[in-house]
Amino acid sequence: MSLKLTTKDYVDYLCVSAEKIGSEGDYLTQLDAATGDGDHWTNINSGFKKLVSIYDELIVLSLSDMFKKVGMTLMSEVGGSSGVLYGSAYIAAAKAFKDVDYIDIVGIRTLLNAMNEAIKKRSNAIAGQKTMIDALHPAVEALKMAEQENLTEKDALTSMKNASLDGAADTKYMEAFRGRACYRTDKGVGHLDPGAVSLSFQIECLADYALRK
Ligand code: ADP
Ligand code: MG
Repeated sequence: MSLKLTTKDYVDYLCVSAEKIGSEGDYLTQLDAATGDGDHWTNINSGFKKLVSIYDELIVLSLSDMFKKVGMTLMSEVGGSSGVLYGSAYIAAAKAFKDVDYIDIVGIRTLLNAMNEAIKKRSNAIAGQKTMIDALHPAVEALKMAEQENLTEKDALTSMKNASLDGAADTKYMEAFRGRACYRTDKGVGHLDPGAVSLSFQIECLADYALRK
């Protein structure tokens, strides 16, 4: 396997993510209703539906311009805290992919790392504070580890996916320091963070898409 994702591949992956997110409405709404205001699925689903609706516009762009357009679209369409954070993440990705034609396995790490750093900067949050970062940071770490250990691309992608899903699952035991859950007396302990879960769905879809290529 020698991974090489083009703009069209990435947009196709976004469409797979849109389908997955679309099918998890009750679950994600219920998660955000438990510790927040219940709008997370509506917010993110509307952003991803909008991306699907501009498919033809996105696939003809360079990787960098596509990431920028995705970021601007999510920023304006998603709303809530997560909209701003996804917008910042994809705009950082656009900067990291200037003049790059495809995403290989190192590129996946560059992409997720740029997104993770942008979200951390924008939100002032770090890993372990019960936010979407807890699904992204472990994925980046898993890819770094995979490179150090010379894992195959297939094993690196599987490790990335499992690290993200495990990271989202671990938010159940974390206390929230950021976002609406931090205003609760229990700090959301005992509940999953909705933003971490929806982001882990995207990483899962990315890994599965790349593994099929
Ligand atoms: P809102 O919290 O504005 O209603 P959403 O419901 O769309 O926005 O998204 C909630 C998710 O966004 C949370 O589960 C968390 O993962 C993430 N989030 C919210 N605020 C922050 C923050 N300050 N830092 C990092 N992540 C945050
Ligand atoms: Mg909300």
